[in-house]
Amino acid sequence: MVLRQLNPKPDENGVDGKKSAVLHRDLGYGFLPLAEGEGNYLVLENGRRIFDASGGAAVGCIGWGNERVARAVMRQMLAIPYCSTVFYTTKVQEELCRYLVDSTNGNMSRAYLVNSGSEAMEAAVKLARQYFLELSPAQDQRTRFISRRQSYHGITLGALAVGGHEYRRAKFEPLLMKNVSRVSPCNTFRGKKAGETDEAYVARLVEELDAEFQAVGPETVCAFVAEPVVGAALGCVPSVPGYFKAVQTVCRKYGALLILDEVMCGMGRTGTLHAWEQEGVVPDIQTIGKALGGGYQPVAGVLVNRRVIDVLEGGSSVFVHGHTYQGHPAGCAAALEVQRIIQEENLLANVQAMGDLLSRRLQERLGDRPNVGNIRGRGLFWGIEFVADKEKLEPFPSDDHVGLAICERGLTAEYGISVYPGAGSADGIRGDHIIISPAFNVRSEEIEWIVDAIGRVVDDFFATAT
Ligand code: PLP
Repeated sequence: MVLRQLNPKPDENGVDGKKSAVLHRDLGYGFLPLAEGEGNYLVLENGRRIFDASGGAAVGCIGWGNERVARAVMRQMLAIPYCSTVFYTTKVQEELCRYLVDSTNGNMSRAYLVNSGSEAMEAAVKLARQYFLELSPAQDQRTRFISRRQSYHGITLGALAVGGHEYRRAKFEPLLMKNVSRVSPCNTFRGKKAGETDEAYVARLVEELDAEFQAVGPETVCAFVAEPVVGAALGCVPSVPGYFKAVQTVCRKYGALLILDEVMCGMGRTGTLHAWEQEGVVPDIQTIGKALGGGYQPVAGVLVNRRVIDVLEGGSSVFVHGHTYQGHPAGCAAALEVQRIIQEENLLANVQAMGDLLSRRLQERLGDRPNVGNIRGRGLFWGIEFVADKEKLEPFPSDDHVGLAICERGLTAEYGISVYPGAGSADGIRGDHIIISPAFNVRSEEIEWIVDAIGRVVDDFFATAT
């Protein structure tokens, strides 16, 4: 089947990717020209409104057009728009890092601010390596990382190397560092055997991880890297209870660090500020991104556990890393204001309540559909995985781009809803999904509308796909 319905539509004054001067991610595609954001709506140049049910890639968390955030950024830009971090700091950077560190109940002791999730992951990887060098010269042999298949940790070479997204890695494989190996993700839909208990599943995964440490030499491993709830690579897949505790025990046993990538699932998206709060573990290093600044400025970060910082402080006390734009004042101002709004409006409670409603209503509306394989998620982070055959859990062929095509259908004037596409890719396993991740201030009537719109999109799509 050929399912993609390439934009632009002539009536939308679409931007033809073929003629554009922008090196768009797909040169042959047509793009919808976005003019404004109003609350949870995106407004195109021609005035058509689209409900943003995913905040882009789970970035938007307080909606669009928030004047308070815009004013905070503006004030900061007029005060000082840039801070060279060799000699200077800014009040806004100090305040944001204090807020982030304090939000971890004393577990994390420093925060490092960058501009993207990929940069945060690069810093996390280097920090892990430097930690061992500072710990003892004998730890110099720790150069390896273990991560999980069907994972995504960013697009720059280091972050891409740590991740397991085969499609995004394939062309650059020869450029990627080779000191990374991967184990199975915790994915009940595709990985858990029929009749297997959660405990037995965790035991099996942990055995695999332990065996991987043994295979590569436990004394060579810097860190195990994972997302608490897998976003782009799998489509909002949480782990079963006890998984992360068991994984951390293995890491501790071999003296390796636990790096949790919360770029997509963190900063409130799953109902607690940090997704690890629901896992009963505290990571050694944590990355954050998207919902930190809610899309108002490019801002991401790394939170570093006291245990790691103590070693650094007792050693060289210099993290050998840095970016021209790290700790950017405008990014800090946006993030601080977004986080204040989340706190003042008690939005995490809303994420939990609306998340429960969204999960319930999605199951009721689409759970029994023959091409809906699985609906899973946490908080306001929900994925629907599509299957060609529900009994065999057979995915659609990759070239059909089912996830993408469903999202495109949603964008048309008939439905007017924006959700985020994705497809798992590893070891030949695919699984098209869409991600539904509305803003933290979404209201119950909007949830009802989202579910109705997605229900119509999915039903119409599979009724007409040829
Ligand atoms: N880590 C995770 C879990 C992500 O989902 C992403 C982006 O989607 C990244 C890292 C990379 O972040 P960025 O695209 O901001 O570089």
